[in-house]
Amino acid sequence: MDVKGPDTYDVVGIGFGPANLSLAIALEEHPEPFTSAFFEQRASLSWHRGMLLPSAKMQVSFLKDLATFRNPTSPYSFVAYLHASGRLARFVNNQDFYPTRKEFHDYLEWAEARLRPRVRYGSRVTALRTPAGARTPLDHALLTVCDTAPGGATRLVKARNVVIATGLVPRMPAGVEADASVWHSSEFLDRFRHHHRPLRRVAVAGAGQSAAEIVGFLHDALPDAEIYAIVPAYGYSIADNTPFANQVFDPTAIDDYFHGTRRSRDAFWHYHKNTNYSVVDSEVIKDLYRRAYDDELAGTERLRFLNLTRVAGVKSVQNDVRVTLHSTAREESYDVDLDVLVCATGYEPMDPAAVLGDLAPWCLRDAEGRLHVDRDFRLVTAPGLHCGIYLQGGTEHTHGLSSSLLSNLATRSGEITVSIANRLAGASAGGDKGVRP
Ligand SMILES: Cc1cc2nc3c(=O)[nH]c(=O)nc-3n(C[C@H](O)[C@H](O)[C@H](O)COP(=O)(O)OP(=O)(O)OC[C@H]3O[C@@H](n4cnc5c(N)ncnc54)[C@H](O)[C@@H]3O)c2cc1C
Repeated sequence: MDVKGPDTYDVVGIGFGPANLSLAIALEEHPEPFTSAFFEQRASLSWHRGMLLPSAKMQVSFLKDLATFRNPTSPYSFVAYLHASGRLARFVNNQDFYPTRKEFHDYLEWAEARLRPRVRYGSRVTALRTPAGARTPLDHALLTVCDTAPGGATRLVKARNVVIATGLVPRMPAGVEADASVWHSSEFLDRFRHHHRPLRRVAVAGAGQSAAEIVGFLHDALPDAEIYAIVPAYGYSIADNTPFANQVFDPTAIDDYFHGTRRSRDAFWHYHKNTNYSVVDSEVIKDLYRRAYDDELAGTERLRFLNLTRVAGVKSVQNDVRVTLHSTAREESYDVDLDVLVCATGYEPMDPAAVLGDLAPWCLRDAEGRLHVDRDFRLVTAPGLHCGIYLQGGTEHTHGLSSSLLSNLATRSGEITVSIANRLAGASAGGDKGVRP
């Protein structure tokens, strides 16, 4: 990235996962030029690297890529990537809408390579700040950016618009902390590759896609180990990806949700949560059941499904981890000693408050304390704050089920870009809402 940069950027993105990568493309393809910079705490682009299991597949069509739904002729589409990689014909021969996550990661890296000059890696944004002695209207915010290298410097960056896309936050079972023998699924592969002690007994807690995938992976990778699947339900539940249900991820569903009543919004969650949350692809479920069946037939049972069971506590005992399990079927608790416990216990939605800093009091909230977000994904702020703060994620309460997913990245990035362009143009024309001098 141009280290000097402009005095004040039109757009600064916090985080550079798929959401802000998609935004960087939308900004580049917009007819108006923008000055922009993106700050990412990691050393390089990393899309759930800890879960890039060998044959794990996408849960979204390859056509819902970074750009196609906004601009079907974009040079950043998945089809353009396949073409550039010389695999387009062979990909089509697969007759499969769902590439592996590894291939999608490769696509993201391919797209990112052309935008890298705008990204500063190893840079964590810790807070938004108001300029010292600032008077209203505030037309820009300051971002405190810390270099993540040991002893790294801190600096301030000025932005007329900030787009927060910091992603989901890993969730551990209540009272359980990650350590060398207790892993969250988000870091699974890194931990697995760097774990040098023998793994004879491993448990995976959780009932979602990551949990089921890890159980299958461990069953392959550790042929002599016992694998426990700790499942709070009676069994894994199937992800509904049938056509009518899948419409909840269409761009138009965002309007239906945003303009809906409380009851209609509740209906989205009540009827269609099983499109994504705590559910597993049918292929993966069938594969796990078949593995257990085949083991039983061969007299080598080592996959144990502990249903209606939750992790109630964890403590270290010499080299083992002692896990207290609670069976809700029998309402009793018991201990098992393991080499490793993997908590595939999901994620919390993105929490913008973690970086709002001084600007938090400007951001309006509803009666339940949730941030007010406009249809263009901009936070509704008190009069006097003209700097735009946009969210990519953390909008489940206003924009619905696809908020944290890839489905609408392209259209959302396009809408944010148009909103920013209009407000900047309004400012140039002397309007009172925009921010560009
Ligand atoms: C294993 C797994 C598989 C998934 N598969 C699918 C799928 O197939 N289809 C689908 O639709 N969704 C899927 N999802 C949902 C997932 O949320 C999206 O795929 C996607 O990651 C969302 O992109 P994002 O950019 O919003 O967030 P992220 O990919 O999480 O990126 C956020 C980035 O922000 C950075 N960051 C955070 N805080 C700061 C800070 N303060 N300063 C600087 N940088 C910061 C992080 O390091 C990270 O790189 C999956 C999720 C998981 C966990």
